[in-house]
Amino acid sequence: MDFEDDKRRFLRILDNLYGRMFRCPRGKHKRSSSHIRKTGDQYTSRCRSCRKPMVRLSKRNWALDNRRA
Ligand SMILES: [Zn+2]
Repeated sequence: MDFEDDKRRFLRILDNLYGRMFRCPRGKHKRSSSHIRKTGDQYTSRCRSCRKPMVRLSKRNWALDNRRA
């Protein structure tokens, strides 16, 4: 068994819970780096916690995609 893997998984679950309880309700969504897609000249992704679609406004500045949310 891989203890480090279990620890990482556990931390990710905690981070998700924390995000859903405290970040997302306040509009502070964190985009998932593994869900980034490029469509035309627009980058889209999802919130790591609540999975709502997000769009990139500028570098390091992401917002919920209200057209699709
Ligand atoms: Zn969210």
